[in-house]
Amino acid sequence: MDFVYSEICLSHNPPFEVSSGRWQPHSESPARLVSIHAALIKEPNVFNLIPHRDFSLAPILRVHSPEFVAYLQTAYEEWVSAGRTPIGVLPDSFPHPALVEHLPSQTWRASINSSIEAKVSTYAFDLGTMIVDGTWRAAITSANVALTAAYRLLELEQSGGNEPVATYALCRPPGHHACKAASGGFCYLNNAAIAAQFFNDHDLQSAKKLLEGEEQTITGGLEVKKKVLIVDVDYHHGNGTQSMFYDTDNVFYVSLHAYPDYPYFTGSAQEVGVGKGEGYNINIPIDAANTTHEEYLEKLKAVLESDAVVQYKADVVVVSLGFDTWCEDPVGGVIHFSDANAYTQMGKVLATAKGTSGRPTLFVQEGGYTVPKLGDFTVNVLKGFLGQN
Ligand SMILES: [Zn+2]
Repeated sequence: MDFVYSEICLSHNPPFEVSSGRWQPHSESPARLVSIHAALIKEPNVFNLIPHRDFSLAPILRVHSPEFVAYLQTAYEEWVSAGRTPIGVLPDSFPHPALVEHLPSQTWRASINSSIEAKVSTYAFDLGTMIVDGTWRAAITSANVALTAAYRLLELEQSGGNEPVATYALCRPPGHHACKAASGGFCYLNNAAIAAQFFNDHDLQSAKKLLEGEEQTITGGLEVKKKVLIVDVDYHHGNGTQSMFYDTDNVFYVSLHAYPDYPYFTGSAQEVGVGKGEGYNINIPIDAANTTHEEYLEKLKAVLESDAVVQYKADVVVVSLGFDTWCEDPVGGVIHFSDANAYTQMGKVLATAKGTSGRPTLFVQEGGYTVPKLGDFTVNVLKGFLGQN
């Protein structure tokens, strides 16, 4: 299986996060990536490393606002040149509804241009997502890692054969919490959403043009090239991904996640999509204190074999792959998810369930914070998917 990785993704290294009233070393560390990369290159007969390529900002601007992307690119430099601490960019207020809801949005949004703090506060929704020197380089590379693996999937599909094809994007920072115009939950650019939109927008031919720099802007309203099913198995709800595709049936979002848990305000089973998107968003809340890995996998299989998912007939599957379901995970942790073989089973379920079986599949790395075990978990899922374990 081809996988994409870049050392540039190590350049993002925030010194701390603020979580549940504590200052603590940042959980989303470069060591996570090193652990997974080391495990994959140990098995060169199974995993083949390919370098990332640059797809320009065009596919990123299909899901993120231009103002937010421009902000991420220069936030650190702006912050430091305004005399703020070089440690990193962190908000100290938010445009909370209680603060601004009595004002027209253009009134309070005007502050974005007059105060660096207002800008920083507008484009983030928590205190876990510091911007440091190196964050933008890592975030844009992480998005390009996902796009390169997506592109490779199109190439493999084109080259024929009856074998289902799959690729793995070793992304860092992760993406599924990032919204159209806000970072949060350790996420800046939503790698899985960018890849899903890329599949909506491109066949191999137009993707090639994008790579060659011919197609710099992508307009909406085009014929959808591929319908995408996103399966999010990270411990947390992918609020950002859900929000980006909530009103469309071009992308079907399915998520299993601990609930209630971070990000606290999204992830209920009542969130089913709106307008054309109604029925194309399924949230499966998990009780993290009482769910075994067997029960978790049964729920995963059941939703991937549900009428809604099977009848959708997705052209491609994007898996938002998180390992913070593991029982010892310091950020997440489903208490009875305690057998590493469960990740092998997860790969098998994704390969064989009626709604996903036989479909080109892109795995995109999200969370997971038990660093020494992440390599094994990744190998387990991917080999389980390939039927090699
Ligand atoms: Zn997570």
